[in-house]
Amino acid sequence: MALLWPDRALLGMALCFLVGAAVSQAFLPHCLSETLKAIIDGQASGQLAVSTFTGPLSNLLLAAIAGAFFSSLRGACFIIIGARASVRLRRQLLESLLKQEVGFFDTTKTGEITSRLTQDCQRVADQVSFNVNFFSRTVVELVATLCFMLSYSTELTMISFATVPLVAVLSNRVGHYMQKLSEETQQKLADANAVAEEALSSIATVRTFGGQIYEQRRFQENLQKFYHLESRRAKVYIGYLFVIMMLPHLSNCLVLFQIGRLCVQGLSAPVLLAFVFYLQTLNGCFNSLADIYTNIMQALGSATRVFELVHRTPRQQLQNLGGEIPKELVRGHIELKDVSFSYPAHPERLVLQNLSLECPPGKAIALVGPSGGGKSTCVALIQRLYGPHQGHVLLDQRDVLEYGENYTELVSAVSQEPLLFGCSIRENILYGLPDDHPARTDALSPDVVSAACLANAHHFIQQMADGYDSCVGERGVQLSGGQKQRIAIARALVRKPQVLLLDEATSALDAESELQVQMAINNLVAHHDMTVVIVAHRLSTVKKADVIYVIAPRRELVRPSLRRNRNMGSGRFVRGSWPYY
Ligand code: ADP
Repeated sequence: MALLWPDRALLGMALCFLVGAAVSQAFLPHCLSETLKAIIDGQASGQLAVSTFTGPLSNLLLAAIAGAFFSSLRGACFIIIGARASVRLRRQLLESLLKQEVGFFDTTKTGEITSRLTQDCQRVADQVSFNVNFFSRTVVELVATLCFMLSYSTELTMISFATVPLVAVLSNRVGHYMQKLSEETQQKLADANAVAEEALSSIATVRTFGGQIYEQRRFQENLQKFYHLESRRAKVYIGYLFVIMMLPHLSNCLVLFQIGRLCVQGLSAPVLLAFVFYLQTLNGCFNSLADIYTNIMQALGSATRVFELVHRTPRQQLQNLGGEIPKELVRGHIELKDVSFSYPAHPERLVLQNLSLECPPGKAIALVGPSGGGKSTCVALIQRLYGPHQGHVLLDQRDVLEYGENYTELVSAVSQEPLLFGCSIRENILYGLPDDHPARTDALSPDVVSAACLANAHHFIQQMADGYDSCVGERGVQLSGGQKQRIAIARALVRKPQVLLLDEATSALDAESELQVQMAINNLVAHHDMTVVIVAHRLSTVKKADVIYVIAPRRELVRPSLRRNRNMGSGRFVRGSWPYY
């Protein structure tokens, strides 16, 4: 209902059409009975002429036309309502997903999320429009039919309703069971989707290691579980449908038995006929209601899964306490103060413990150390992808979580395997910048070009067929690793950030690309108008840094030593025993 509320005006209109359609439909047996009555009475009195029954017959025709007219309008309204509900639900879901903390995605499979976004949403939206349509139609039809039936015979009407309580209790029980079952089935389907999604997005690796059969088996296993649950649903449905379809016939027999007795006492044929028609409509209504109820309960199963996500509160809230701080006022002093952190996927394993490090404005620090030591984790914390369990990550002595939405313009990052989007190079460089940002101009902006020059990317971009408008393919597949890295650096630089984070930007590159990216990094470090944090494992990358921190698990620091950094002279130190330094 909450989902349909924004369309209440349209819904009200649809309900008006619906009442019109139901009343017209309910009039049909009455008009039929009147027509027959006119014919039979005319015959009995010997004055039967065409004009005797054309009056009630034209009423019958009018009722049929009105019924068809209102029904088609009602149907159209509900299609629109369904489509709007579907769009709204998906939009709300994606909005909520994009707000979730990164840790949520570490512990939830992408396939499962897409399954909720596609299948569950579709099911909810379909059922919402379809069931609201049919449920309201059935209820209105039921009430109208009931009124007509009561006007014919109270006794027969009461008998017709004899089996209703049984149908209601049974539908309720089965409905709840179906809801639970539906939740489980959708979960299994989501698991299967997650397997397919993972396999398809890593198709090169799957092929390289001949993992096709393994993936197929995993997919099949999940589908098998889904199939078992569906079979269980089918079994329940057999028994349920059998009883539900039998009961109305039972009450039919009772009513017909009573009609027979009344006929013996002189009930007229047209009344009998009208009542039989009403009885048919009534049965139809009861069957529909029982069916709709189980459908609604199934849709509730999907809805539970969707709304769970729509209403999920992100674990990490950005506080934005002091409003947005103007960019010019931020100097770029980065500090990690006594930080301890573990990832949500492994909360029991501390990755960082009481770590403190600092980088003054305009300087460059390098984080080095063995793989798995926690260098990228430090960068992720500065990026606000995660929040520390203890301690603070500070930018200009202020907790990074307190910054407003312009934080992404203050701190930019280039990750180990940067991801480009399936659009032009220009759009990739401008990605995420608001429409009114000075770098977003109709023609190619000088900001974009200078960012590309600084990133050593301008030259190769110019050599491409469409220059900055060349499309890079999905995830940037049409570019080499080095080219992607350099565009990613340009993307970070076009924001003119106060702090730039480079996380192993050269690790996956060949010698030539590495040299190019290295030159780009050297350009930046030499500039001194932004703070640069470099994560690297190559000496050449970190040589130009003002201070070097060795980040390593405790057991790695077998020979702790303090070494002053000559460049800084500010009392900062490098603690380490790593062979490179
Ligand atoms: P480095 O950059 O020094 O190689 P990382 O910061 O990437 O190290 O990783 C530090 C530790 O955290 C490793 O043991 C790694 O397995 C773990 N880790 C990294 N990312 C995640 C994640 N998203 N979820 C759980 N554990 C992670």
